[in-house]
Amino acid sequence: MRHLVFLAPGRVEWQDAPEPAVGGALEAVVEPVAVATCDLDVAILRGTFRAFPGQFPLGHEGVARVTDVGDAVASVSPGDLVVVPFQISCGTCRACQAGRTGNCQSVALGSMYGYEPFGGPWGGFLADKVRVPYADAMLVRLAPAIDPAAVASLSDNVADAWRTVGPPLAEAPGSEVLIVGGAGGSVPLYAIQQALALGAPAVPRAARARGGRAPPSGTRHLTGGGLGDRGGSPVRSAEETGPDALAVKAGQPKPGHASGGHLRGILLVTTAGGDGS
Ligand SMILES: [Zn+2]
Ligand SMILES: [Zn+2]
Repeated sequence: MRHLVFLAPGRVEWQDAPEPAVGGALEAVVEPVAVATCDLDVAILRGTFRAFPGQFPLGHEGVARVTDVGDAVASVSPGDLVVVPFQISCGTCRACQAGRTGNCQSVALGSMYGYEPFGGPWGGFLADKVRVPYADAMLVRLAPAIDPAAVASLSDNVADAWRTVGPPLAEAPGSEVLIVGGAGGSVPLYAIQQALALGAPAVPRAARARGGRAPPSGTRHLTGGGLGDRGGSPVRSAEETGPDALAVKAGQPKPGHASGGHLRGILLVTTAGGDGS
């Protein structure tokens, strides 16, 4: 088979590779049919994120068609379209049972597709075939009516955005939302759309921010462009305030936070350095 290999910033190449096969009863092999670029992929390709040096097969967000399954796989069959999570998880260890599938104890910490050797030898989704070691735990069947290309980022960036606005808005419905950071691209845009869909209200423009304080340098508004005409931006983006942590907080922001003076409701700080994964 062939897979797309990252060589250096700005350089990728299709290369031949051994075709993966089902190696155990819990496994599956899938053929990617729609693959999205993660915000982190973009940063790596541009050379602005260099924590993963060397050459490795790319791609860790996508929808795939199941081609082969092991004897014990019960939830998917050959022919099914599935969302393939970017992280490897067994579904049965203590961490997985607690819902912390990103910390699965059955594989090395950080196991994921698309970033060898950091993420382990799992290959990338920009490939003819991909091996899934825990099919029942990992694969999510896609309803037939859903366009695979529309949900190719469900593996990572759509879910990454949702975790920052979904649970907090469920806890505090109607809260304003502020996105700090967001240089990465897709994650903040998904968060905006999800916040709108979850009923986040429009907010005053930052020049009239709550408390009358000046907006942070670099504040810009994300309005229109398919985000809906709600009389103003529901989400303020303060990209130059220097996010210092990955944090989601409902209620009042931490004292002293760079953007604290402008916030009420939900504070979202994400994607420092443009890494949206
Ligand atoms: Zn596990
Ligand atoms: Zn990612």
